[in-house]
Amino acid sequence: MNDSARPVDCEILVAGAGIAGMAAALGCAQAGYRTVLTGRDAESPPPPASQEWDARIYALSDSSKALLERLSVWQALDALRIQPVYDMRVFPRPGLAAGDRDELHFSAYKAARPALAWIIEERNLVRALRTALGFSKLRRMDAEVTALELDADPQRAELRAADGRRLRARCILAADGADSPLRSLAGLAVTERVYPQHAIVLNLDCGRPHRDTAWQWFGEHGVLAMLPLPPGEDPAWPGRCSIVWSAPTATAQAMLEAGGDAIAAEVGRISGGALGELLPIGSPRGFPLRCRTVDPLIAPRLALIGDAAHVVHPLAGQGLNLGLGDVADWLDMLAAAGPSARPGKGDPGAWLLLRRWARMRAEPVAAMRAVTDGLQRIHDTEWLASLGLAGRALGFVTGIGWRGVARSGFLKHRLVSRAIG
Ligand SMILES: Cc1cc2nc3c(=O)[nH]c(=O)nc-3n(C[C@H](O)[C@H](O)[C@H](O)COP(=O)(O)OP(=O)(O)OC[C@H]3O[C@@H](n4cnc5c(N)ncnc54)[C@H](O)[C@@H]3O)c2cc1C
Repeated sequence: MNDSARPVDCEILVAGAGIAGMAAALGCAQAGYRTVLTGRDAESPPPPASQEWDARIYALSDSSKALLERLSVWQALDALRIQPVYDMRVFPRPGLAAGDRDELHFSAYKAARPALAWIIEERNLVRALRTALGFSKLRRMDAEVTALELDADPQRAELRAADGRRLRARCILAADGADSPLRSLAGLAVTERVYPQHAIVLNLDCGRPHRDTAWQWFGEHGVLAMLPLPPGEDPAWPGRCSIVWSAPTATAQAMLEAGGDAIAAEVGRISGGALGELLPIGSPRGFPLRCRTVDPLIAPRLALIGDAAHVVHPLAGQGLNLGLGDVADWLDMLAAAGPSARPGKGDPGAWLLLRRWARMRAEPVAAMRAVTDGLQRIHDTEWLASLGLAGRALGFVTGIGWRGVARSGFLKHRLVSRAIG
């Protein structure tokens, strides 16, 4: 039998080398499972020597940080390019809450947390993950999975790569992104809601320091977030930030065509000059926005993780955090399963274990979807108007809720705990 005809055999196969897939494969390999990671590396060039900043930025939660520490990835990050967020100021759309004092102010100090979030460039994270993968025993295969058979053998799943190679695994973790080919091959149902918005991301130098604060404005413009970044060395620009602006689709398209300077000017207007004069760094990028719900998250010998399992609106910066939560719960579930899942002897793809993991994920995923989708809707003036009287009533009730949270330390504490894990 030649090499291409002999199937590659492993205990856990992770399909998709995005951040969720790399973290999952690393965790499984470190736990002692014979692990294969398929797929190309995430498209992030190595960091340039210059001060250039990656436009893809993630706000990572405490729980994500804890997972990355456990995987020895956090320790490999370039610490000078990580920005902690100690405060967050959220401004509702005008008319929802009366008066400036009804902004929401969250504080890490008041919540007794080291930080509300950590802002990290994608390439910093990817580089650290690759370094850690280099020290692990897993096998990398630059293979795109194109066929899947879950029923042929009750003990393992079979896959076929685009180049004809065959792979066999006791368990498959499909981390192949929002359009997951493995999800389709496994026949798992997905429902989608396309938001009437596109996200614009762009980094900006700022004329005023950000004071380690993340800012967010809701309004006719959609949702504008300004996330703090470590400042550059030019004293004329004492602050730097990354914007995620979820704008109505037509506005987003017009702004992307108009370019970085026009976006910076509009961001300055919406933010009321909170961070002073703004200067774009690099080019803006646009992303269509949608909410995707997958039910169930598992099929025999297969579990979906990361964006393959759920896509949420980025207004709370939680999509990757949810994906890393999938990974953390997966590793915890295997560790708690004892001999039945032990590397080399047990069966990590047993249906009972998959179901146990799916139950662990059901609540956090549903809760995050409800929060992000709900926040998007109650600030969507077009949607509220389409509901007529009911929309006005909903807007009124929401205003009361907003003021209640803004004025209650207890509710804010609960929200922070929920958001940062
Ligand atoms: C504007 C914006 C801002 C965001 N900000 C934040 C934030 O601040 N914090 C946060 O937590 N989240 C944020 N998110 C969400 C976050 O970007 C995603 O949740 C995350 O990138 C998903 O990672 P993933 O590894 O699951 O999927 P992906 O990054 O899509 O990786 C999937 C991988 O699978 C590979 N693949 C595809 N098909 C196959 C196949 N057949 N075989 C093998 N491999 C395959 C792909 O090439 C890719 O490498 C944001 C999203 C947007 C749009």
